Amino acid sequence: MKRSSFLQHMAWLPLIGQCMKLNTLGSMAENFAATDTMPALFLGHGSPMNAIEDNVFSRGWQNMGKNLPKPNAILVVSAHWETRGTLVTAMDMPRTIHDFGGFPRELFAVQYPAPGSPELAAETKKVITSTEVELDHAWGLDHGSWSVVKHLFPNADVPVVQLSLDRTQGPQYHYELAKQLNALRRKGVLIVGSGNIVHNLGILDWRNTEGGYDWAVEANTKLKGFIADGNHQALVNYNTLGREVSLAVPTPEHYLPLLYILGLKGEKENVSFFNDQTVMGSIAMTSVKIG
Ligand code: ZN
Repeated sequence: MKRSSFLQHMAWLPLIGQCMKLNTLGSMAENFAATDTMPALFLGHGSPMNAIEDNVFSRGWQNMGKNLPKPNAILVVSAHWETRGTLVTAMDMPRTIHDFGGFPRELFAVQYPAPGSPELAAETKKVITSTEVELDHAWGLDHGSWSVVKHLFPNADVPVVQLSLDRTQGPQYHYELAKQLNALRRKGVLIVGSGNIVHNLGILDWRNTEGGYDWAVEANTKLKGFIADGNHQALVNYNTLGREVSLAVPTPEHYLPLLYILGLKGEKENVSFFNDQTVMGSIAMTSVKIG
C-alpha cells in the first residue's frame, strides 16, 4: 500500500446530501423481541484494505461473527463520524460511504447493502436522555462501520444504524452517554465501537508492517491491563497515562469508541481480547468483547 493512500484514509470526500423520505417510526416492541443481553464489541479497524483482504484480522472478525447470537440490529459508534451534537442515522437504506482516497478501485466498488432501522434510531434517541439526539438522513455507513461489519455479517441481512461522536465533548461525557444505551442490548441490539486504541498515522513504520514500535506495544499492553482490571476511570483519563499512551492517542476519535463499549460493561460481565496485534509501527488492531 502506498504511504499516501493510507494517510488519505482519514480524508472525507465531499458528501452530497441525500433527500430521504421520513419514515413512520414503528415501535421497538413490534420489531425487536426481548433477548438475553447481547455482547458488545470494540473493533480495531486499521486500514480500509482490511475490508477486502483475507488476513488474520478479517478472519478474526469473521470468526467472531459466527459465534455471536444473530442480532435484531447493530448500532455502530465509528471513529469516522464526528459531529457537533449527537446524531443517529435514521434512513431505511444507508448508503456505503467510501470516506478515503487513493485506494484501489476494488475497494471503492464495495457496497454493503444492509438496511437501516428507523425504529432503532427512534429508540436510541429515546434512551439517551442526557442530550437531544438528532435523527440523521444524510450520512450512511462510513468505512469505520462497513469495513468491519461486512466481515461479521457478510450477508448484510442485519439492519445497521450509526451513532455519531460529538466532537465538542470530552471522554467522561462519552463514557456516561454509553451507559444509557445498555437497554438496547436486551432488545437484541449488538453495539459496536470501531476505532483503534493505538492510532498514530503521522509516524507509521512502513518497514514493520506486522509489528509495533516499543512505545506502541507498551501502550497496547498498558491499556489492555486497565481494560482487564475494569479500571475504567484510568481509561477515561487516558491523557494522564504517560508518554506511550499520549503517542498512541494523538487525537481522540479512534479511542473514544472504546469508551462506549466499556461504559456498557456490567459488573459481572466477562471481557476478552482478540486481533491483539500491533501493525505498521503505530496501529493496534486490538479488539475487545464484552459479555
Ligand atoms: Zn480509521
